[in-house]
Order: sequence, then structure tokens, then C-alpha cells
Amino acid sequence: MKPGGPYGDVYVLRLGHRPERDKRVTTHVALVARAFGANGFVLEGVCDEGVVESVRRVVARWGGPFTVECGISGRRYVRMWREGGGEVVHLTMYGVNVDDVAPLIAASPRRKLVVVGAEKVERFYYEEADWNVSVGTQPHSEVAALALFLDRLFRGEWRFIDYSGGFLRVMESQRGKRVERKG
Ligand code: SAM
Repeated sequence: MKPGGPYGDVYVLRLGHRPERDKRVTTHVALVARAFGANGFVLEGVCDEGVVESVRRVVARWGGPFTVECGISGRRYVRMWREGGGEVVHLTMYGVNVDDVAPLIAASPRRKLVVVGAEKVERFYYEEADWNVSVGTQPHSEVAALALFLDRLFRGEWRFIDYSGGFLRVMESQRGKRVERKG
């Protein structure tokens, strides 16, 4: 499977990044997006070069395609996405359970924008989202919620992603680390 799978485009929009405290979590959101089948990451508001550079380094080593954008207006991005025919999935503990809606979202061929927050998410996103989806009703983490949602969306097929470019590949092994240089 190519990143984006049957939907062509699956992007993750990260809201409310605070450079002084969220660098690691936001980088993990982007890495989870890439590893579990999305083909782009969008950082709302600020342009944190540390995050952008870390993700681009991973793409250069391990392959893509995977795009990274930053300094974008989240509201404008969501409106643009919907005007372009895509659908918006907002992950929040207040939404409807992932088990009930992931099959419906997966059945629609429309491109998907998955939105995750940091602290409080503005009402706008709850209202504009086609789907407000919860991964359980307990507060936890945007990283966990995103991983689980993408796994359900791609029905586990993300493990067959064929990354192009990059120069490293892990060979599965029972013990130790086997890393191969491509080509
Ligand atoms: N009260 C917030 C909320 O609306 O979910 C929790 C903030 S949490 C620190 C940051 C982000 O993690 C949220 O904006 C949401 O995207 C995600 N998140 C946390 N718990 C979740 C859950 N149970 N289901 C879905 N997403 C969740």
C-alpha cells in the first residue's frame, strides 16, 4: 500500500502546538501519522523548525512520501479541505466511539483530514468536523488516539506500506537489530 491507501490523501492537522513544551509530543504525532499510513502532517499556527526538521530527517532516512507543512491557519485549512471535497475527522474524548464510526469513515472514498488537539480545542473544530471520534471516553493522548484511529481506518494494512526513497530498512528479527541499506 502507498501512504494514504485507498483514500489518496490522509493528512493529520495538529492544533495548539506550544514550542516550549510540546516538541516531543508533536514530533511523535507526526511520526505516528507517517508510520500508520498518512501522507502529510500539518502544524497549525507556529512553524517549529525543530519539529519540522526532525520529521524531515526521518523521511530522508526511512522514506516517504510524507509532506510536512507548518505555520498554517487551522481554520482556513479545515475549510479548504472541505471545499475540496475532503472530510474532516476530529479526535476527541467527547466524540462517538471509534468502533461505531471507523467502518463508516473507512467505507467513504473521500480524502481525510484527521485533527488532533493539544489542550483546549476551539468549538469551531467540533462544529466543522464531519466526524467527532473518541477513542474511549477517558482523557489520554493525541499520539495514542491517532495511532489507534489510523489502525482502524486502514484496518491494519499500514504495515504493508511501501516507502519510497530513504536509504534504511529494518529486517524483522527475533533478536538484535538488523538494518539494511537500500539499493
Ligand atoms: N479534553 C481534551 C479533549 O478534547 O479530548 C483532552 C486533551 S488531550 C491532552 C489532547 C488531544 O488528545 C485532544 O485534543 C484529542 O485530539 C486527543 N485525545 C485525548 N484523549 C482522547 C480520547 N479519549 N479520544 C480521542 N482523542 C483523544
